[in-house]
Amino acid sequence: MSKIGSVGFVQQALIKNQFKIKKKFGQNFLTDSSILNNIVEAAGVTKQDAVIEIGPGLGALTEELCEKAGFVLAYEIDEDLIPILQDNLKKYQNYKILLKDILKANVEEDIELYLKEYKNIYVVANLPYYITTPILIGLLSKSLPIQRYVMMMQLEVANRICGKPSTKEYNALSVWIEYRAKATRIMKVPRTVFVPAPNVDSAVVRLDVYDALPIVAEDETIFSFVIRQCFAQRRKTLYNNLCLKYDKALIQQMLLDLDIAPSVRAEVLSLNDFVRISNYLTQNNK
Ligand code: SAM
Repeated sequence: MSKIGSVGFVQQALIKNQFKIKKKFGQNFLTDSSILNNIVEAAGVTKQDAVIEIGPGLGALTEELCEKAGFVLAYEIDEDLIPILQDNLKKYQNYKILLKDILKANVEEDIELYLKEYKNIYVVANLPYYITTPILIGLLSKSLPIQRYVMMMQLEVANRICGKPSTKEYNALSVWIEYRAKATRIMKVPRTVFVPAPNVDSAVVRLDVYDALPIVAEDETIFSFVIRQCFAQRRKTLYNNLCLKYDKALIQQMLLDLDIAPSVRAEVLSLNDFVRISNYLTQNNK
């Protein structure tokens, strides 16, 4: 029998079920078994591990995950996909599909309910691209017991997430992610392997979440605000961007105390610099 993640299977499944692809849910089904294998391999999933999948779609990735993982917990927003998924995955027992919007789900509670016995929990997904950043920020900011994320996303966002200082991709999201996890771009994926093909190319990114943060911000809400502010207008200096929200004298004194040149732009600063700035403002912005 052909795999779910193949052009033939996807086309047949769509016709057989009279399924209308919903653009509003970012539905682009993956039809390349070697890419599916690479994703699962990059996650290093074993039978001792549980996987959370976001958007199982027709079940192409879910099938591979059911083969390799102990258990798969999948969140799908589109109720029309549920009976199709159940039919496509009927030979497996080690999965649970939740008809839920991942942005509204209480993932912590679901982990407690379904995945308590698993030591390692990984998120593995071909994400709905229209909500890549909110999904990532939503999950990573909750300090859930998830050790690793392997996700397909649009290439541009993947490059930002893995962005390094002094490159055009480096921005507030790169820093926010770097604070919590080691980000690696695993592979670039052409748009042609999806049905329907999206308008952008994609990439698979792996995030290995730090057990203990290498550098700690005293107040993470202030840290998130500060990095967004530092990159508010890329062409402006750090000083000018920070003065949009903070007192000028405070920022002048801070740059002196931290030995940062007033003329620098945020894109050259390291994570360590942003944490120093954030901690300074946490302590001194009374
Ligand atoms: N995993 C499948 C594959 O690789 O072929 C489908 C991936 S498709 C890019 C994204 C999937 O996410 C779709 O099945 C879509 O219905 C689902 N989805 C979209 N928004 C969602 C949300 N807020 N919560 C959960 N699932 C969502």
